[in-house]
Amino acid sequence: MSSDNLRIIIIGGGAGGISAASTSKTVAPGASVTVFTEYEDVAYSPCGIPFVLGKEIPDFERLFLQTPEHYASIGIDLRLRTAVTGIDLKGRTVSVGAEKYPWDRLIIATGWEYDKPDIPGINLEGLHYIKNIRRAMEFDKLLDGVKKVVVVAATPLGIEISGNLAHRGIETHLVDEGAWLMSDVADPDIMEPVQKSLEEFGTIIHFGEKVLEFRGRDGKVSSVVTTGREIECDVAIIATHKKPNNRISREAGIEIGSTGGIVVDDHMRTSVKDVYAAGDCCEIIHGVTDIPIQGLSGSHAYSQGRVAGANAAGADRAYDPVFVPWGMVGGQVQMGGVSLGETLHKALGIPHIVAAATGISRARYYPGVSRIRVKLIADPVTHRVLGAQMSGGEGIKERADFLAFAIKRGATIEDFAWMENVYSPPIGALMEPIALAAQAGLAELAKNK
Ligand SMILES: Cc1cc2nc3c(=O)[nH]c(=O)nc-3n(C[C@H](O)[C@H](O)[C@H](O)COP(=O)(O)OP(=O)(O)OC[C@H]3O[C@@H](n4cnc5c(N)ncnc54)[C@H](O)[C@@H]3O)c2cc1C
Repeated sequence: MSSDNLRIIIIGGGAGGISAASTSKTVAPGASVTVFTEYEDVAYSPCGIPFVLGKEIPDFERLFLQTPEHYASIGIDLRLRTAVTGIDLKGRTVSVGAEKYPWDRLIIATGWEYDKPDIPGINLEGLHYIKNIRRAMEFDKLLDGVKKVVVVAATPLGIEISGNLAHRGIETHLVDEGAWLMSDVADPDIMEPVQKSLEEFGTIIHFGEKVLEFRGRDGKVSSVVTTGREIECDVAIIATHKKPNNRISREAGIEIGSTGGIVVDDHMRTSVKDVYAAGDCCEIIHGVTDIPIQGLSGSHAYSQGRVAGANAAGADRAYDPVFVPWGMVGGQVQMGGVSLGETLHKALGIPHIVAAATGISRARYYPGVSRIRVKLIADPVTHRVLGAQMSGGEGIKERADFLAFAIKRGATIEDFAWMENVYSPPIGALMEPIALAAQAGLAELAKNK
């Protein structure tokens, strides 16, 4: 079939779906491309929402990156507020209620939802899930009258939200079962300055406490009961882990993997011919462990959408296993890394050595200089670096991107110890903190020989 006559249907208008649509249209301009989304909007940045709620960003309007008219002008048929209710793989249609829409290529980008705890009071009014921008706008207005908030789970979103709401002047409690922030993926020494900064912002953190119940008055949440205490609140925010939103794919018979994500190959093809998937509804192979993982970032969803969209339209593009560079801000501290940290290497029983040091972000005399903690985790035999974690005042994102690229290409501790680096007092110190960490690791190895 000529790619120009293709009927491409995309379910989902988030980062994965919208990038798939634009790329399909670029690769096969004559194809008909239709996007269905349950939401009222497309092409906004959910990632900015916590910062509007915290008044760091002045308004929600800035988060809209494109208009529906733009997509119409490039020939993409956007069906807003339209939930796809079923996928027929044999008949090659999707249903919206009784209506059926035929496809030659289908791209599933149904994304994720919060893992809703199955505990008493979970359906009370006043429990919020920050995702859809319209709901976030309504929540922002409500927050003007709110004095006390409980945020459930110190996930990346829980950390961003609690720092921002404390910054807004609201008494903010963050409750988490772990012993430190993001304890399932991050290392305690890396997260310690983040915790300190959040506490300086006014966030009250309750570690090692499980949420047992939401209590309410007149159908509305009034307190959160944990294993350690009862915390009164006006609203609670559920910021639990992201789980793939795959009900319709599962019902259709598309293969779902051990993580709950759709299984895709290196071209974002699902188990069914001509059906692709992209974004947080999928599971993707991790570049170091070779194990499928799920719940990556908006930038991964966007890139996967581009690959799925291109291939659905007739191109031949591959998506590599992921090394997962990540970075974010908690309070006023940046944190980030690549692949797995020391805690996860230990938990998974992966043999490793650690090379760590604390350097500085600019020349030590330059105003604004901050400490940068870098930890490299490496194979004990080959010294190939397997992962990294960092925190500090600035430059964490750039280091995470650089490390991901270098790790993917097999860089060793020795490579980083002898790397070249920029030195310019306002933007970089004489010795790059990554190189310092690697040098410290080599010195340790030499001592233990
Ligand atoms: C508050 C917040 C902060 C974030 N911060 C960051 C960040 O700092 N950095 C980062 O990289 N990422 C961030 N993200 C992005 C996020 O973590 C995800 O990785 C990203 O949303 C995944 O995109 P997606 O397209 O796979 O899924 P989603 O964004 O979940 O989009 C799914 C789409 O599918 C539609 N849909 C689902 N089911 C159906 C159906 N049956 N019929 C029709 N439509 C359907 C939905 O309407 C939606 O349009 C943030 C997200 C939020 C909410």
